[in-house]
Amino acid sequence: MTNKKKLGLTARIVIGMVAGIAVGFVFKLLLAGQDDRILHILGMDIALKALFVDGFFHIGGEIFIASLKMLVVPLVFVSLVCGTCSLSDTSALGRLGGKTIALYLVTTAIAISLAIFAALLISPGDGVQMQSDATFNPNEAPALSQVFINIFPSNPIDSMAKGNMLQIIVFAVLFGLAMAMSGKAGERLASVFSDLSDVIMKLVTLLMNLAPYGVFFLMAKLFTTLGLETIASLAKYFGVVMAVLLIHGVVSYAIILKLLSGLNPMIFFRKMQDAALFGFSTSSSNATMPVTMETVTKKLGVKNSIASFTVPLGATINMDGTAIMQGVATVFIAQVFGVDLTLTDYLMVVLTATLASVGTAGVPGVGLIMLAMVLQQVGLPVEGIALIIGVDRLLDMTRTAVNVTGDAMVSCIVGKSEGAFDQTVFDDENAGCKEEDVDFHHLR
Ligand code: ASP
Repeated sequence: MTNKKKLGLTARIVIGMVAGIAVGFVFKLLLAGQDDRILHILGMDIALKALFVDGFFHIGGEIFIASLKMLVVPLVFVSLVCGTCSLSDTSALGRLGGKTIALYLVTTAIAISLAIFAALLISPGDGVQMQSDATFNPNEAPALSQVFINIFPSNPIDSMAKGNMLQIIVFAVLFGLAMAMSGKAGERLASVFSDLSDVIMKLVTLLMNLAPYGVFFLMAKLFTTLGLETIASLAKYFGVVMAVLLIHGVVSYAIILKLLSGLNPMIFFRKMQDAALFGFSTSSSNATMPVTMETVTKKLGVKNSIASFTVPLGATINMDGTAIMQGVATVFIAQVFGVDLTLTDYLMVVLTATLASVGTAGVPGVGLIMLAMVLQQVGLPVEGIALIIGVDRLLDMTRTAVNVTGDAMVSCIVGKSEGAFDQTVFDDENAGCKEEDVDFHHLR
């Protein structure tokens, strides 16, 4: 037995992140002005960039992201099947779906309205010169009708292979419902699924222990290559997006949570730290989903029957942070190009950005593809995106943390209103923390 107090996971992730950023900056300085630097260590020629940046950092970071993603499909499918088949009546499902989707859409609409308002107030685009050589080739954004058709899978195995979240959700819900109606056979299967769910959650816990290292590698690679110089020239745009992200992620969420569920926002934010840090360092709500799920069920006290539905749905359709970037970016681009948008145009922006988030998954940089859709809708040049691309990486990280927090907040509200919420877990400061300290000795 040792009396030495172990650092909590959040502290370890923060240390990994800060160390990664510091190491990234050192490498950036070392490599400044040259493609690679050859070091002579113990008589060997070692190329610094190839060995560390493209070697260790890249490999470590990619393995971390891949292992998170590895858990997403099995986790969503298994826990959603468990969740649906444990719902007492099928009408609860319709109510649950309606409530969740409505909350996701309303919070996104609030976020983008706030963003447009702030951008109009501060005018980040005034005085910014349009570079004539700016180019941006957007990926094709899906048509809205196709978005709805695409929700229904024709081949669930294909949906799983491609990680198409909405299709997986539809299949899992139907499968879970059928299981609930299948008497003894359904019950036997339900106990298998429940065991599977426990094992997958254990895998999430194991993986979270490695997060400080994964985050270190991700940050070290990113900050070696990140061009921070562009931020100065776009300081106003960057500042407005960041400010609105913070206001929405802290103030709006605290008010909405308090008003609609009566829960204490301070406790909520304290418990969300790990998930938000994961979102920040991976820039992907999808990859963060296992951690969000663990946080929502084990730390915040939402029952699995609700969280298994609200979290994956949120990671796919709820992107408040992304909507904020789109709102500010639209006003910014309109100002740079000298286009006056009308009130109808702004309403169109709110509507398109809110609906666009339904059809696109939460992965890094997807916000820019959605932005192309929004700009086209109001007749603004899509090339405008080239102006803001330079500072998008850091904003992507921050808005993903907001997206993830929004998913958890709505899960709490829905859980509370459906009576599927454990207040003692929410109030317990240490809930869900002990399991993070996995004793790897057992595995030897
Ligand atoms: N990276 C964001 C997410 O995964 C989406 C985006 O804004 O690009 O939530």
